[in-house]
Amino acid sequence: MSPLELSANRALPYALRARVEIPDPENCLHRLCDHMREHGMDVHEDDGVFTVILPDVVGSLSQDGRHVMVQAAAADLEAFYFVKMWLQAELSELAGHLAPRIEWNEESRNLRFPPSFGTLAVVAVREITPRMRRITFKGDGLNRFDTLSALHLQLLINLGAVNAQCRRQCDFSGSEALQDAPVWRRYTVRSVDGARGTIEVDFFLHGSSGPGANWARQARRGDLVGVAGPSGGGVPKANWYFLAGDETALPAIARILECLPATAQGIATIEVASEREWQALAVPPGIAIEWLYRENSSDACPHSLLDALESAVFPPLGESRFAWVGCEATLAKKIRAHLRTELAFTKSEQLVVAYWHGHDEPVRS
Ligand SMILES: Cc1cc2nc3c(=O)[nH]c(=O)nc-3n(C[C@H](O)[C@H](O)[C@H](O)COP(=O)(O)OP(=O)(O)OC[C@H]3O[C@@H](n4cnc5c(N)ncnc54)[C@H](O)[C@@H]3O)c2cc1C
Repeated sequence: MSPLELSANRALPYALRARVEIPDPENCLHRLCDHMREHGMDVHEDDGVFTVILPDVVGSLSQDGRHVMVQAAAADLEAFYFVKMWLQAELSELAGHLAPRIEWNEESRNLRFPPSFGTLAVVAVREITPRMRRITFKGDGLNRFDTLSALHLQLLINLGAVNAQCRRQCDFSGSEALQDAPVWRRYTVRSVDGARGTIEVDFFLHGSSGPGANWARQARRGDLVGVAGPSGGGVPKANWYFLAGDETALPAIARILECLPATAQGIATIEVASEREWQALAVPPGIAIEWLYRENSSDACPHSLLDALESAVFPPLGESRFAWVGCEATLAKKIRAHLRTELAFTKSEQLVVAYWHGHDEPVRS
């Protein structure tokens, strides 16, 4: 059944279609599916059509000669917008310098910002550790981020360029130039101060050059970014928790630990570059916290989070438990598989999220 047929049976009224001209469409199709699987999505293949069914989006990808064809249907405009953004960013990355040509249907072409869109202004910047910067933002309606059911937000890093492009480009033709395309990155709301109308986000200044880390490295009071959300999953109630992640997941782990009840039991494992990246965290007494320092690990065991998982002592089957992990995509895949196959964690007992991607080779012409 196609996404559009499926959407007829569900409340998915927003239809996105795109025809993408890109070098090596077959390879591109498989890489897109791999990326979705890295994020824990089930991708089903039937006769060359790859389908994904999520609670608020149904989508399919297929090849038609030199083109990748996309069909999706979304429950709301927010999901609709971010499906488009995800696709645009993935295709640009896969194509490298050979910019793909994307023909969107009219409905998706005309949506310039998501419904929850707002603007944030930087009001303070502070170093937490040598590579972690805490940025305080002010904006309207930030109380909506004061929820534990969705810990994340999306930041539009190149707000100035996108606004300028919107002013320039009044006549949208069938295909869009990707130059000055919106650059969205996902971050965690570290804290919310309802009285002051501010939120804090901790940015890991990773060594590679990326728009998000670069922006945070240079951020000054008064700088502006776009914001959307909140989004993402929360952490359900359980008696016993396994929490793990690298620096990018540290803000989420810190916020989760602060919010767990004092009776919570479990293990929290955090991997950072060195002892200089250690932070004081508020931890319930029943949670054992372990810091792993990459500079101390041998080259023979680069995946110390996976080692920590393999050596952890879990409560007996039947105990209420939950595993939450955020880390690099390839490692996330291994951790998800280990939880499922070795420890019999069901889907509802785990949330393992790819927080960032190691470098992919662009598709070849
Ligand atoms: C739900 C969610 C919440 C997140 N919360 C936070 C948060 O609170 N704080 C935070 O700092 N990050 C967080 N991240 C991770 C952040 O979104 C990614 O690190 C993102 O790639 C940064 O964007 P960028 O523009 O700097 O780099 P990109 O343009 O995405 O990537 C550029 C290059 O940098 C490399 N790279 C990206 N991240 C890392 C890294 N961590 N270490 C080494 N190399 C890297 C990539 O492999 C690529 O080669 C979160 C991610 C998700 C999915």
